[in-house]
Amino acid sequence: MTFTSFNDEAALQFRAAVRAWLERELPPDWSERHLTATEDELYELRREWGKKLHAAGYAGLSWPRAYGGIEAGPIQEAIFYDEIANAHAPEGLGRIGRVMTGPLIIDCGTDEQKARYLPGILDGSEIWCLGYSEPTAGSDLSSLVCTATREGEGEGDGERYRIRGRKIWTSFAHHADRCQLLARTSLERPRYQNISMFLVDMHQPGVTVLPIITAAGDHSFNEVLFEDAVVTVADRVGPEHEGWRIFQQSLRHERGGANAISYYREMSHQASVLTSCCARHARYPGALAAAEAVADEVNVVRWHIMRITELEANGLPSRDTQLVLKLFWSELWQKLSDLGSRLSCEAHREFWRYSYLVSRAATVYSGTAEIQRNTIARRLLGAKRKAAT
Ligand SMILES: Cc1cc2nc3c(=O)[nH]c(=O)nc-3n(C[C@H](O)[C@H](O)[C@H](O)COP(=O)(O)OP(=O)(O)OC[C@H]3O[C@@H](n4cnc5c(N)ncnc54)[C@H](O)[C@@H]3O)c2cc1C
Repeated sequence: MTFTSFNDEAALQFRAAVRAWLERELPPDWSERHLTATEDELYELRREWGKKLHAAGYAGLSWPRAYGGIEAGPIQEAIFYDEIANAHAPEGLGRIGRVMTGPLIIDCGTDEQKARYLPGILDGSEIWCLGYSEPTAGSDLSSLVCTATREGEGEGDGERYRIRGRKIWTSFAHHADRCQLLARTSLERPRYQNISMFLVDMHQPGVTVLPIITAAGDHSFNEVLFEDAVVTVADRVGPEHEGWRIFQQSLRHERGGANAISYYREMSHQASVLTSCCARHARYPGALAAAEAVADEVNVVRWHIMRITELEANGLPSRDTQLVLKLFWSELWQKLSDLGSRLSCEAHREFWRYSYLVSRAATVYSGTAEIQRNTIARRLLGAKRKAAT
């Protein structure tokens, strides 16, 4: 459904319905379980929760009805994520599939790929990961060196590619059944015209997942080795060598407003923890004022989100504003957790230590802060590239 504002009658009704559903369905001890569960237990909790989201029709919100979605517009989607974050509800497993791979297959996949993959993505029974970054290709992704070498000719069943290379920072690869992978399919063709997009089975010989433990102690991403792994021609998305164009096209599914909501809610919670902590036992003169000032900045994130979501809902360009929002909230989160680490009371020391470490990654994923500054300078401020000397 397309709402044009957060205050439409239909939008208010939708919010009330989601809130009532959450009150009914969210396990009452969820917050406590979330804090004490092991990684495996958390995984199972999220899988169960994903099934509930799917049964209630909340899994592929923005997907077309023909593929099981409800064709939610940006405001409806933002309201949903806002209520989920407000209730501290878990996220269902399989977000990469629902938000990235599913829409990619709907746009560019074959009928066979749609029939084979979309149901499992929607009900969370098949988990996907993104095989883009490599040890020597991150910001400059088109320089990737992982290869997919064609064996045989034609597009028949027997035709396939051999994949060789290393992917890194692959979130959820240790849980994933399939990988949306970019690989080089020609060493002769010009850059940007020699990459293809594949849907690769992770449960096959030749695929090795090596864990990477973050500074915060979490296991959320991995290195993945592809050593003669196989993918069939039928599992290539779009024409051969056109993966870069398809990758760029898939970025248009990112909804900056809805994506940022969970970060906003978390930061808002952290800002209120810090403010009340400083109000009770300020350790330094000016601590409370500093905490309140950063809490005000967190509110600016909320206004940014609403503005972007309304731009998206009204079909207006929002991509550049999304870049500003991502840069703003990611740096603000680091500032907030720096402040929390310095000003908080003893009781919250561990809380801030974890926030400090986790927030470091925010200025790296989904485009680093430096790359975003470059893009904003060029696209929004009209800066010219400096000529090479
Ligand atoms: C939590 C997390 C989850 C991730 N999940 C995935 C995933 O699931 N799948 C996946 O494929 N990838 C994933 N990534 C990887 C992420 O996309 C890359 O880390 C990111 O693109 C940056 O690439 P890089 O790490 O190679 O750094 P580099 O590109 O090597 O950059 C290193 C530093 O140099 C700076 N720099 C680079 N180029 C320029 C330039 N032109 N101008 C100015 N400064 C520059 C960067 O800003 C950065 O500070 C994840 C990363 C994180 C942190």
